[in-house]
Amino acid sequence: CKTIVFSSSATVYGLPDFLPFDESHPLRPINPYGRTKYFNEEIIRDWAGTDPEKSAILLRYFNPVGAHSSGMIGEDPNGIPNNLVPFIAQVAVGRRSHLNIFGDDYDTPDGTGIRDYIHVSDLAAGHLAALNYAKDHKGVEPINLGTGKGHSVLEMVKAFEKASGTSIDYRIMPRRKGDLDSSYADTDKAEQLLGWRATKSIDDMCQDVWRWQSQNPNG
Ligand code: UDP
Repeated sequence: CKTIVFSSSATVYGLPDFLPFDESHPLRPINPYGRTKYFNEEIIRDWAGTDPEKSAILLRYFNPVGAHSSGMIGEDPNGIPNNLVPFIAQVAVGRRSHLNIFGDDYDTPDGTGIRDYIHVSDLAAGHLAALNYAKDHKGVEPINLGTGKGHSVLEMVKAFEKASGTSIDYRIMPRRKGDLDSSYADTDKAEQLLGWRATKSIDDMCQDVWRWQSQNPNG
């Protein structure tokens, strides 16, 4: 094997020294998930260092959400969803009574956490672009996959209400350990190296999740 495209995560960056996160930002993950991604990146760097013919693209995903636009492929997490949008979708379809919002006292305009949500179809296209790039470029490249735009939890709730025509009840809860105020991507490197950028908005993401969730209420 000469090529690896690795599913890494923006959580490798940890607390931001600056935003948007670019690929040269220091790596100081603050939660176990981010540490697993960080150590895997390091192992892949060692692997690539053994042979100048090897190529590794470390794709640092921001917050993937959405479903295939057909409504036939979507996400049905086991148990209680950890991630925001699957949780909202289950509230909208009546499987859960309300959303718990983890903190409204963050340093953001509405106090809820800001993330860079990216449609899974854009993310998939980013992988094809990465494979294509790896064919004739050797060495290791970390590359962010995000939209470059941040949205708060409350903005996501509103976008989902609009897409689904439902109303999402929520309660404000304490902050969740290991969460940041804000995280969003600098997307220049992806554009320059891969010729790729995200095309879908949070409205597209919510519409596609709702199509999938409403057609498959029990997963
Ligand atoms: N969040 C929330 N309630 C939930 C799940 C998530 O308020 O049930 C918030 C979380 O605090 C963060 C954002 O939604 O600000 C995105 O969280 P998620 O777990 O989807 O992704 P993360 O950025 O943690 O990887």
